[in-house]
Amino acid sequence: MEKKKEVLKDQCPHYRKCGGCQLQNMEYSKQLEWKQHLINKLLGSFCKPEPIIGMQNPLHYRNKVSAAFSVDRSGRTISGVYQSSTHRIVPVDRCMIEDRKSDEIIVTIRQLLKSFHITPYNEYKGYGLLRHVLVKRGFGTGEVMVVLVTTSPIFPAKNRFVQALRNRHPEITTVVQNINPGFTSMVLGDREKPLFGNGYIEDVLCGLKFRISAKSFYQVNPVQTEVLYGKAVEFAGLTGREQVIDAYCGIGTIGLIASGRSGTVIAVEQNPDAIQDAGANAKLNAIGNIKFYQDDAGAFLMRMAEEKQKADVVFMDPPRAGSDENFLSALLELSPKRIVYISCNPETLQRDLKFLTRRKEYFVSKIQPVDMFPFTKHVETICRLDRIK
Ligand code: SAH
Repeated sequence: MEKKKEVLKDQCPHYRKCGGCQLQNMEYSKQLEWKQHLINKLLGSFCKPEPIIGMQNPLHYRNKVSAAFSVDRSGRTISGVYQSSTHRIVPVDRCMIEDRKSDEIIVTIRQLLKSFHITPYNEYKGYGLLRHVLVKRGFGTGEVMVVLVTTSPIFPAKNRFVQALRNRHPEITTVVQNINPGFTSMVLGDREKPLFGNGYIEDVLCGLKFRISAKSFYQVNPVQTEVLYGKAVEFAGLTGREQVIDAYCGIGTIGLIASGRSGTVIAVEQNPDAIQDAGANAKLNAIGNIKFYQDDAGAFLMRMAEEKQKADVVFMDPPRAGSDENFLSALLELSPKRIVYISCNPETLQRDLKFLTRRKEYFVSKIQPVDMFPFTKHVETICRLDRIK
């Protein structure tokens, strides 16, 4: 046992401090067993979960990489991740689950800072310009976005800096400056401006094109996202006539992919940047039977229920906190034939499934875990609920 741990420690020198890969010391097949066991335990009372779908190659799957910048005690610039539950930065140059190219770009940025007199943010002293760097890469298109998160909008020598960065990495298609002046643990602030290119990247997923901007949510593991969305659409059992809802739709991925087999799709999302991307994505793919609304999903569904609108199939893909009572009660009132619940947190999923099944109007007919996050403890699950009457 000790020997195996040594081998894995060699694989990642940061695993003790970083805390990002909680299952680091398990072989991949064991990780899948661990996740299966968790899902069986939490959700097995609803119906028997299917075997988890793992990855062929579970390394370097992340298409989004972020690094915090700071200075160490001796004044050297460092970049890396926060040590779990602290504000100390663990210097990291390479990570076994992150996209290699994105990691290289972050190292280049760190190397370039000094000659451009760009100071990294010093949390203790409260000054410095560069707080974080975020890199998003479209695996399907190769397009790369670099987001430089700064404390101030004033960024001296920005054009020369961007030019130098692009000389080293011609694959970069857009560079965005995001301004985050506050004392906050959020990486991104509200304000942003493109320094180069159009401020977003495009990617291809399930045969469609998607535009993604800095602040929009996009699944981090594109290989498994195709599996996930494929299963979600399969579970929906669409025939081409249904009125479909895509709730918590992000940039519209699920609704757009399902639109080819639906009558009409109504999609709702809270984040205004994501909704803007979603509208652009409908145009980009010439899809006309989908409508996007920027709203709280719970408030939106309550209104639909009050207006006695109709829905045959509802996809829902809430954040880790799960859905809320407004949404779930309105959903029961709308009474769709089928609900496809996509969840990144089996605990809130269990809570919400209890709510949806307690009046015996729905039963859970399928549970499919998909491994979107190898080496971490996170599990993604798709559930299908069917109406009883
Ligand atoms: N279905 C999308 C996004 C899933 S992530 C995809 O697969 O890419 C969850 C999304 O829910 C995020 O885009 C987040 O901005 C959005 N969200 C969070 N709380 C919300 C709320 N109360 N109402 C509507 N959308 C919300």
